[in-house]
Amino acid sequence: MPASSYRLDVLIQGYPGRSVCNGGLGWSTIALLRGGDRVILVDVGAFGVRRELGKQLAARGVDPAAVTDVVLTHAHYDHAVNFPLFPNATIWIGAEEISWAASQPPGFDPLPELYVQELASSPKVRRVAAGDTFLPGMRALAAPGHTPGHLVFTFDGTEVPIVFTGDAAKNRAELLSGEGADTEDAETSRRTIEMIWSLWRAHPGTLLVPGHDLTMRLDADGLPEYLGERKAGIKAWFDEDLERTTHFDLCPRC
Ligand SMILES: [Zn+2]
Repeated sequence: MPASSYRLDVLIQGYPGRSVCNGGLGWSTIALLRGGDRVILVDVGAFGVRRELGKQLAARGVDPAAVTDVVLTHAHYDHAVNFPLFPNATIWIGAEEISWAASQPPGFDPLPELYVQELASSPKVRRVAAGDTFLPGMRALAAPGHTPGHLVFTFDGTEVPIVFTGDAAKNRAELLSGEGADTEDAETSRRTIEMIWSLWRAHPGTLLVPGHDLTMRLDADGLPEYLGERKAGIKAWFDEDLERTTHFDLCPRC
């Protein structure tokens, strides 16, 4: 099939924040690529996103059974646990990532132990080595730091190239500061973010899809600019019935 024939849809926007007293939000990016006979998801989100993800797929006429490939940046629960919802998909994850994740004892961290076991043993899972072009136009690069076997993916089957960074660079603040929060290795994360910048600058117009923020591209001054409008909020039941809710807007500059 010709190049530039895939379409990108970000089904779920990642959000660059966490709650103050209740742990991580786990609001991560889910992206859809469609072209030729392939329907690809890059990361699949946490349990809390299931209904919304189902809605977003339905809105685009995508049957979960028609998803051909699920590509995981890393093994954390908020990116990985929904892979069983796509029964006919091949699941792709870094070989080093799954070996590392499967060797970790249960801990107070974002690894979903039982899902990691399934990823480590299922015949539907294909292990990707850094440097591999494992799907047409999609190449994996080693992006350690946040987790030891984290991969970033470059994709050149769309009109402009895309870099999917997952949590190797979760948000704009990490890209601009060059520092990764929540990293297994701060210095390694710094080098990975430098590598991401070189991928991003290599081809003008390249889109960067991060794990917990809006899609960005570089403006004329080489600085990240957001594409699309951020939407995030919470509604809460603080009244005595279910009809009245209190809304908290989580987009201060929206
Ligand atoms: Zn993560």
